[in-house]
Amino acid sequence: MSTLMKEDGFDYVFNPSACEECAGRCCTGESGYIYVSKAEIEAIAKLLELDVKEFMREYLFKKMYKYSIKERKNGDSYECVFYDAATNGCSIYDARPLQCKTFPFWDYYKTRVDELKLECPGILDKEDESV
Ligand code: SF4
Ligand code: SF4
Repeated sequence: MSTLMKEDGFDYVFNPSACEECAGRCCTGESGYIYVSKAEIEAIAKLLELDVKEFMREYLFKKMYKYSIKERKNGDSYECVFYDAATNGCSIYDARPLQCKTFPFWDYYKTRVDELKLECPGILDKEDESV
């Protein structure tokens, strides 16, 4: 039996073993925003051994009053610049932003489970918890 993750207030559970076969769909696909706070910016810059300003110039862009991680185009798709296809993982994993850490348990998806299932193959209904 897999170890499923669950969070109070969510009608679904998450099977993390699905990530092995998934090719990082949550880090790739449609263009989106990967927001980073000031503390997260400092933590990622430190991990990459970069000056904060240099890191921001190279890897972030401003969206209204926030900062988001840049993406690169890959065919018809986009991917976070820190997605590493070779390892199917995140190259800043230890300092990845909260937005990434909390996926797939976002308030946005509480009422949009079908949309989430299309993106993430690890989503199961609560009644499937015995999987
Ligand atoms: S989309 Fe879901 S299964 Fe795929 S890598 Fe992201 S969390 Fe894992
Ligand atoms: S920071 Fe890491 S976990 Fe977050 S979208 Fe980029 S590659 Fe994925």
